[in-house]
Amino acid sequence: MKAILIIADGLGGRPTDYNGKTCLKAAKTPYLDDLAARGAVGLMDPIGPGIRPGSDTAHLSILGQNPYKVYTGRGVFEALGVGMEMAPGDVGFRANFAAVELVSRGLRVLDRRAGRISEGQKELEAVINSIELSEALDIDFEFRASTQHRGALILRGNGLCHCVGGTDPKQAGTLVCTSRPTEEGDIDAQRTAAALNELTKKSYEVLCNHPLNRRRVEEGKSPANILLCRGAADLPSLQSIESVYGVRGAVIALGSLYRGIGKSLGMKPITAAGDASSLDEDPAAIAEMSLAALSEYDYLFVHIKGPDNAGHDQDAAAKIAVIERIDRELIAYLDLQLDWRTTHLAFTGDHTTPIDYGDHTAEPVPIIFVGPNVLPDKVKEFNERAATEGGLGRFSGQALPILFNYNNWLPKFGS
Ligand SMILES: [Zn+2]
Repeated sequence: MKAILIIADGLGGRPTDYNGKTCLKAAKTPYLDDLAARGAVGLMDPIGPGIRPGSDTAHLSILGQNPYKVYTGRGVFEALGVGMEMAPGDVGFRANFAAVELVSRGLRVLDRRAGRISEGQKELEAVINSIELSEALDIDFEFRASTQHRGALILRGNGLCHCVGGTDPKQAGTLVCTSRPTEEGDIDAQRTAAALNELTKKSYEVLCNHPLNRRRVEEGKSPANILLCRGAADLPSLQSIESVYGVRGAVIALGSLYRGIGKSLGMKPITAAGDASSLDEDPAAIAEMSLAALSEYDYLFVHIKGPDNAGHDQDAAAKIAVIERIDRELIAYLDLQLDWRTTHLAFTGDHTTPIDYGDHTAEPVPIIFVGPNVLPDKVKEFNERAATEGGLGRFSGQALPILFNYNNWLPKFGS
């Protein structure tokens, strides 16, 4: 048996999205509607009713984990997702190249994304990695650039702690933050914060006069003249899915966060075409990659970021268009190519990202399960409202174990 879980990030919406309809309702999705007609539909609270999910915590919950027990922060998943390895005791951060200017009070952020820099990141990565932190700290670090301004940082050494604030003020026009322990008197956190602050300062020193940045400034572009970090996290204690269910899986996701979440659970990250240089998703390419991966692995987790990006941009037309493209290029292809005698598929979102609000909200998201062991219900279309009539009712997270149940992969609880 094979299983495939597809998560369209930020899929859910509200009736205020588009002329009284959610984007999913407004989108023409004949292939998803057909899956709904053949399968069982329900509403899933990504974590629980009234819990407003982040993408990371929502994914952990949907993949069968308890985020309240295992979530330590996004930094660790970012680091794993860009191909770094983390050991217990390391502290990982999400890192951004940013543009700053020196003012009398400190360093002021001009552009948190350094003009979405698309050149020379590996060169700048090497410059960052050549920085030496003061010997007294006895802390090593490794930085890895990924796509555009994005990257991840790992601090390594004895006596580190992830209970520190970041240096990224998360808003242009404000000063670069000084990292501080989240609890006063935590010696390990003080050391960690001191290392991060020193690295941040030195990143500015080595990057501000770098030839690449001088050229960018001459060309009127934002320089990538500092590294800003956030989301400090240590390695969560997660059991691999293989150790629990005895099946081997892979993850297809362009976003490093999602690749990292899959990897933290023992999934093999499958690099996507164009992965190194852009986050442009091509549902048709993802469809082909998925089919190839399914021949090799027992199960697959596929992540698509498009609907969430459009939701954050508050662009209903773009969200509708990307949902229609997923339907036409990914779902139609899989429906045609999968062996439905031996495959179960689940399709859902990780949370709601309504157009009006432009950020995640706590409503449940519709979900479909389809395959030979799924008892079809009466729902014939796939959207939030139709899902209220679905045979699966309303449940919280756990989509992957629910999918695995149809493949008879679940261990028994009790005797
Ligand atoms: Zn999300």
